[in-house]
Order: sequence, then structure tokens, then C-alpha cells
Amino acid sequence: MKVNIYRRAQTLLVSLMAFALFAMPLAAFAQTQIRYHSNKYKVTDDVQVGRQAAAEAEQQFPLVRDSEIENYVENVGQRLVSAIPPEFQHPEFRYYFKVVNASDINAFALPGGPMYINRGMIQAARSEGEMAGVMAHELSHVALRHGTAQATKAQKYSILAGVAGIAGAILGGPAVGQIGQAAVGTYFLKFSREYETEADLLGAQIMARAGYDPRDLANMFQTIQQQGGSGGPEFLSSHPNPSNRYQRINQEAAMLRVDNPIRESAEFNRAKQRLNGMGRAPTMSEIARSGQRYPNQGGGGSNYPEGNVGGRVAYPSSRYRTYNGGNFSLSFPNNWRELGDNNSVWFAPEGAYGQVQGQAVFTHGVNVGVSQAQSNNLRQATDAFISSLAQGSGNLRQQGNYQRGTISGRNALAINLSNVNEATGRSEIVTVYTTLLRNGSLFYVIAVAPQNQYSSFSGAFRNVLSSIRLND
Ligand SMILES: [Zn+2]
Repeated sequence: MKVNIYRRAQTLLVSLMAFALFAMPLAAFAQTQIRYHSNKYKVTDDVQVGRQAAAEAEQQFPLVRDSEIENYVENVGQRLVSAIPPEFQHPEFRYYFKVVNASDINAFALPGGPMYINRGMIQAARSEGEMAGVMAHELSHVALRHGTAQATKAQKYSILAGVAGIAGAILGGPAVGQIGQAAVGTYFLKFSREYETEADLLGAQIMARAGYDPRDLANMFQTIQQQGGSGGPEFLSSHPNPSNRYQRINQEAAMLRVDNPIRESAEFNRAKQRLNGMGRAPTMSEIARSGQRYPNQGGGGSNYPEGNVGGRVAYPSSRYRTYNGGNFSLSFPNNWRELGDNNSVWFAPEGAYGQVQGQAVFTHGVNVGVSQAQSNNLRQATDAFISSLAQGSGNLRQQGNYQRGTISGRNALAINLSNVNEATGRSEIVTVYTTLLRNGSLFYVIAVAPQNQYSSFSGAFRNVLSSIRLND
């Protein structure tokens, strides 16, 4: 089963955005007004530059590969993303969050959305709020388009051409394609104190809108300074302290109301424990000195790892764990991974997923997501959805008729399809289940397994399906 990651993610984003606006619980008043700086670049330039730099960065930095930690950080990140004020939202941007296996207390975000948080930063944070604080600050630089705004300013003094030139200016080094191992440090945008203050204030506003105490952002800067030593100043050299940073954030926080801010997070403690239990992480300069490359990490902005599709696949575990998405939750076998993002999540065992020519391909597992419905009639919306799947997958054929059922107590349809797997060439069975969400979007579940193994997986598919709870 093949999924066109980008096309799907974009259409979904549009339908989810309306949802996000209603999901924001808070009242804020008298907060500082922040404005964009003059910028001669198009929003799509931010996206292009960021995507190139991300692909390069992911070959230079080892990433933490632990689905629990990856998903946790991604969830906190997406929570903040949906709290970006509407005037700073860019539908073209695609935010995602990865953890770099480096001990330095540092983080960086690239234009258009990719963000990298060092393991050392998470380990230094004393709470989820502090970790979210750094992320909200970084997000704010991206949302305010500080990278290209800075390049606009720089161009008054020098001539830079094309996207490579912008990237050079933004990243403070040579054009992206020419960045060698020695230049690891140059990924960190060097911001002015004016930009820093803006990212602090917008960061505080985003924190409050996302249900965090914005004072945790101020606290995190104190934590960074205290833990200083080898790592602290690193972050502060690219994000220099404006005067009275701590006081200024707290002053803004006093104008932002948050009911019941998130304080204790068991997930944060567990993620931190897992990181503490891993072997010693290298420092950024050790990574640079080693000159090692990580060519198999995907890059290019995809949330789907390279994987090794067609590998040996274990039977589904009888133990289950819980996934909490934006508007649904479910249980899935303990030996499966979560892949993708809140718009379209795959739950699949090792050896059952990978990328073929830039597209994610799965042989076993369950895909759950939300799609814009073409009709408010479930049958018609499902027909349209299936024909869009068939467009991307030439061998997909309908088998039999629709069957009625329920998902989370709502009327649902199910239909079997046959397909030839795009990676292995083996025959597979694909079952699609659909129901409508309250906002009219189509909620879908796609289960896939090779034809000759389907019976070994159908029990797990049924369990996943019956565990789904919609809370839209
Ligand atoms: Zn900053």
C-alpha cells in the first residue's frame, strides 16, 4: 500500500485547520502586538530553503530513533503549532520535530518548519513546560519568517542570488549544497536581540494558547544559563539574551490567561527517563569531528523513516498500547511503531514499511487519518476517497460490496480491495473503513497485509478498529 505523503498531508491540513481554531480554549488580552519584518522573499522560498537545509542537516546529525520519544516530542510540537495565532499561520509550512542525539543544550528550527531539538536540551528541561518553551520560541522564529527577513536585511549589503544564496545568508555559511562536515555549527541562525525579544513574546503567547504556563519559557532560559558550562552558551550564542529577558517574558505572561496550565506530565518524565537510560550522547563538536554521514535518515521533510520494507515481519503482539491523536485515540499492538503525523498515522511492525522513490510503502499495518470529504453522504464520500487511493495505486481493485458497521458507535462502511504491493510485488488485501466526523471530514482506517498472511493479522486489525474512540 502506497501513500503520497505530501499531497495527502496538505489536503488534510486544510480540513484540520478549522478544527484547530475551535479547539483553542483561552482568552488573551492586552498582549504585545508583534509584526512581520519586511521580507522580499516568498513564503514558498522559506519552505524550499528549509527543506534543502533539513535534508542536509539530517545527513550530518544522528537522530534519536525511539518511537515513544519521537512521537511524544512531535505531539508537543503539533500542540504548539495549532496554537500559533492565525495571522502567523502559513498553510505552506510543514512543521515537524526531531530529536538529535547530541548532548549540547541546543535546538534549531529551519525556515518553513523543520525543527531539531538536541537530546541534551530535553534532558536539561525540568518540565514539559520548559521543553515546550524552547520549542515555542523556535517556532516563533519560523512563523515570523525571521530567516528570510534576516536575509532581506543582509542583501542590502551584499548580492545573494537564488535560493542557495538565501540559504547561505540564513544559515550563516556557504550555500546549502556546499556545507561540509566542518560547518555543523553554522546551522544555527544568529538572531539579533530584537528578533529574540519578538520570538520570546510570540513564544509566550503560543505557550498560553496551547495551555502551557508562559513563565516556563522564562524558566527555561534560566535553566539553560544555570546548566551553562559546556552546552548553555551554545544556544545563547545563536539566541543572544536581550536585556531583561526573564522579566520581559514574565511581564507578558502576566497579561496572558491560562486556565489549568499543564504542569506535571508523566509522558515527559518517561521520555526523559528513556533518554537518561541511553548511552552517552556525543557533543556537536564530536559529531562534526567524526565527519560521519547518516544518508539513510530520509530527510526532505518526510516523517516516514526509510525502514526496510519487505523484511521479516513478526506476528502482532497480544499486548497493546495506546495512541492519542488530535481527535481520536486507539490501541495498537505493542510491537508496532507509530509513523507519520497526526494527519495520517501508520501503525506498523518493523520490516513492514519503507520508502520507494520518495513514497512511503507499507506491507503490513493500519493507517488512520482524516481526509476532506467530497460529500456529506458517507457512501459518496467513501467512493470518492477510494477512487483517490486508486489513482495513486494502479493495481488497487475493489472486491465485493460495502459492508455496514460502526466506528466508535458511529455508522461506518467497510470494503475490501486487492492490490499488488509497490515494493514487494506480492498480492495484498487492503480493507478500508470510513465514518464521518462532526465537521464533515472523512475519518478513515486502512488495514493492509499480504494475502497469504491476512488471517494472521485480521484479529489485530479488528482489535485496533474496535478500540478507536472519536472525540471530535
Ligand atoms: Zn531565538
